[in-house]
Parts: sequence; C-alpha cells; structure tokens
Amino acid sequence: MKNKFAVFGNPIRQSLSPQIHQQFASQHALTISYERVLSDNTGFTSDINEFFKNGGTGCNITAPFKEPAYEMCAELTEHAKRAQAVNTLYKNDSDQLCGHNTDGGGLLRDLTTNLGLSLKDSHIIVLGAGGATRGILQPLIDQGPARITIINRTLAKAQTLANEFGDVFSIEAVAADSIPTDLPAADLLLNATSASLEAKLPVTNSAIISDNTFCYDLSYASEPTRFLQWTKECGCRHNHDGRGMLVEQAALAFTSWHKLEVSTKTLINNFEDLKAQ
Ligand code: NDP
Repeated sequence: MKNKFAVFGNPIRQSLSPQIHQQFASQHALTISYERVLSDNTGFTSDINEFFKNGGTGCNITAPFKEPAYEMCAELTEHAKRAQAVNTLYKNDSDQLCGHNTDGGGLLRDLTTNLGLSLKDSHIIVLGAGGATRGILQPLIDQGPARITIINRTLAKAQTLANEFGDVFSIEAVAADSIPTDLPAADLLLNATSASLEAKLPVTNSAIISDNTFCYDLSYASEPTRFLQWTKECGCRHNHDGRGMLVEQAALAFTSWHKLEVSTKTLINNFEDLKAQ
C-alpha cells in the first residue's frame, strides 16, 4: 500500500500540507500518513534517504530545501529543471529519486481556473527574484504574456533570472528603488517576495498599478497581507492572497503520487478551517 508521505522544511510547524493531503486522500477514501519533518542543512540529504528507505512513498519540500532537493534527484520533470528547485519527490520504477516542481502550476491553476484570469498579451510584474519567482516564471511565460518585468530589491538577482530565461522570453530586470517612470502599470502584479512575512512592503511606487491591475500575494494570512492592504488603498479592485496557490500546488503533487485528480474548491473556500484541524 502506497501510503507514507511527509513534508520537509525548517521551520515546518506552520505547514498546512498534512491537513490538505489528508482531505485530498479522504476524497478517494485513501488512508495515508502525512507528517511534518523538521530538517536542517547538514542532515537534509540523509533525512530524505532515510524516509524513502523506511517505506516513504513521496514527500513535499519547502523552504529552505527546494534547491538541495533538486541537487539530489536522478530524474527531473521539465518544470523542476527550469525552476532548478523541487517541491515534490518520489521514486521511479528503477528506485531512482525523481523531482517535480508544482509551485508554478499551482499558481497558474489558481489564477486562470479559479480566478478566471487570462494572461495572454498581458504585462506581468513580478516582485521578488527568489526561489518562488524561479518556480513560476516558465508557467507564466507559457501563457503568452506581452511583457514580464521582475522588480527586486537586489537588482543582480533579477538580472540573473532574466538571463536564465532569456532563451525563451525577454524579461526586464528592474531595481525596486529605481523603477523607470515610463514602466506601464501591470495587468497582473505578483508579490513573490517574502516581505509579507515581516509585514513589510516590497515597493511603494503606486505607478506600477492601476484600478484594473490584478494583484496577487503569494504569501497568505488570516488577515489581508500588508501588500494587499496597500494595493487596496491604491484603489485596486482585484486583490488575492496565495492560499489558492498553496492548495493547487498540493493537488498537483497529490496527482503526481497517486495518479488521481482531486477537488480543491471546498478547501480553498474553507481555508481557515484547515488551521483548526
Ligand atoms: P526567497 O527567500 O527565495 O526570496 C525572497 C525574495 O523576497 C527575494 O527576492 C528578496 O529580495 C525579497 N525580499 C525579502 N524581504 C524583502 C523586503 N523586506 N522588501 C523587499 N523584498 C524583500 O523566498 P521564496 O522566493 O522561496 O518565497 C517568497 C514568498 O513566496 C514567501 O513569502 C513564500 O511564503 C511564498 N510562497 C508561497 C507559495 C504558495 O504556495 N502560496 C509557494 C512558494 C512560496 P532580495 O533578493 O533583495 O533579498
């Protein structure tokens, strides 16, 4: 019976993955175990090897181990290769470790399927140039936008990503403290920085948004994040946090392990209830 799962990270106590995967399992009357595992930089590789040696079927990886997990894999999906980071691990038929990245796919499913957004010919501004941005760029490019701008506090990191993806799309890299005055407002503004975790704003230049800009913070919280408070104060009508992305990336991981589709709508609509479980 394929039933042993886990999520590895540090910190890990806050992870809602066990509750989400248990709900998905119950949709198919599956009995699974799904645990949170606190790992550390020195022990991560052996923790993963032990997990699979002890009968683990699959695991999720969260910060800060998505890159080390990528390095461990013998086989990678195209999404994982592009992201150079994995959030989903499993073994193939030859007992080799395989890595997948469902973050970008999860974001896209939330934006396009759940929230009804079309990104064709749009101007997308991504705030931040860390691991999350690396994971979402290719799925965003695949939607056929007209323009993608990465704005980051550290310009060099935005430039590195623009160079890496330059073979498929011309991305502009901009420093957060010198946004050009002629940069048009975004159709979609994604906050992929971790500034919300410290209740900080990654930018304060309201010229990058208009009333019609669709604003999305990859972070999520019970109350609107500082970023979403700001976009609302600026008059934006469409303001969403990353709870839908979290549930959708988990659904894609579940499908890659169990080869079963799950319904996400009830979980997203009752997201606050997950914390009580
Ligand atoms: P990283 O640590 O890899 O990158 C952090 C980024 O945030 C960097 O670009 C950094 O800028 C920027 N940043 C941090 N603090 C500030 C600040 N005070 N002001 C401006 N910029 C700042 O993190 P990740 O990319 O892995 O994650 C980013 C966010 O995305 C997190 O909040 C995470 O929770 C969320 N996330 C949500 C998911 C979901 O399913 N909803 C999935 C994955 C991530 P600099 O380069 O200058 O240091």
